[in-house]
Amino acid sequence: MSGLRSRATLHDVVPAFVRTPDPSLIQLAANEAAYGPLPSVVEVLAREIEHVNRYPDDGAVELRHTIADWLGVECAEVALGAGSLGLLEQVMLALCDQGSEVVYPWRSFDVYPQLIRVAGATPRPVPLREERNDLDAMLASINERTRVVIVCNPNNPTGPGVGRLELTSFLDRVPDTVAVLLDEAYFEYVRDPDVPDGLTLLRDRPNVAVLRTFSKAYGLAALRMGYLVARQPIVEAVDKTHVTYSVSRFAQAAALASISAQDELRERVEATVRERNRVRDALLSQGWEVPPSEGNFVWLRLGAASGGFGKDLERFGVAVKVVPDEGVRVTIGTREENDVLLEAAGAVREDLVSAGGHLPAD
Ligand SMILES: *Cc1c(COP(=O)(O)O)cnc(C)c1O
Repeated sequence: MSGLRSRATLHDVVPAFVRTPDPSLIQLAANEAAYGPLPSVVEVLAREIEHVNRYPDDGAVELRHTIADWLGVECAEVALGAGSLGLLEQVMLALCDQGSEVVYPWRSFDVYPQLIRVAGATPRPVPLREERNDLDAMLASINERTRVVIVCNPNNPTGPGVGRLELTSFLDRVPDTVAVLLDEAYFEYVRDPDVPDGLTLLRDRPNVAVLRTFSKAYGLAALRMGYLVARQPIVEAVDKTHVTYSVSRFAQAAALASISAQDELRERVEATVRERNRVRDALLSQGWEVPPSEGNFVWLRLGAASGGFGKDLERFGVAVKVVPDEGVRVTIGTREENDVLLEAAGAVREDLVSAGGHLPAD
């Protein structure tokens, strides 16, 4: 077929951020939950296996009702998708045309520019300020072609969130014709009381949508289950771009089981938050600069030394996420995994200090 490259290498077709994990390393690279599924989740998944010859309920009626009740919204205000990435793509397809622009923070979630381009829209990245979304600069980037603004709160990969006053004053100034997507993939890990729950900002704001996922705190990354909450017109538009049967039986059953296992899951999230604070404190006392994080990860802005640091950690058996020439993002693992990470980071730091305090470039 003309137009398709006939001999693309794997390197051409697989985006740079997707790296096949090396199973021999401790995986602190993808912000996954540190723990495997709850026994109750394993049980419902085993039951669903008996029904794999049957299509899933594409309306996911039970799950939509359950999520709506859980969050205190209407059923018609909930859209489900194949992960929040699936929903992000749906939002772009639903709201953008060729020539539309989408404003988003940068550095942020790698996948944003790709999903914006899939919809034929033009990415408008806006640099972070002090590792946070710079909402004033994002507002200033909105023009008559802007259809969507993405706010990543807290920001992946850097960690800090934007506060309530800052966010509400931004939302009040964004034109009604522009949709604001609050990506709250790490909502459950937020402990800064100033970082708002996006759901409390939806009232009287028909252009705002909140995006959440079962991939992170709920530990269901492989099952692809995300949800979006917004007023009905946005949900209807997003539902029109839903790929039929893309939310599997397994995803629906595991999400239902997880919602009824809130207490057990909350304990795990608390453990991760405690570990996040311990890891950050330990890295700070080793001499690294680490911004406060509201997610299940911490960020070291190491600039040109990022790649070298990533390789050093690999030698200690730890895989982290390197953003070349910018920084390294370390996912919070189990206590034992974090101990290995801290020991490795400490050893690298000592070498560094004895070499005169400068991180070597790649
Ligand atoms: C991990 C992550 C997602 C979630 O992706 P899923 O498709 O739900 O697995 C969304 N947004 C951000 C910022 C993330 O870091």
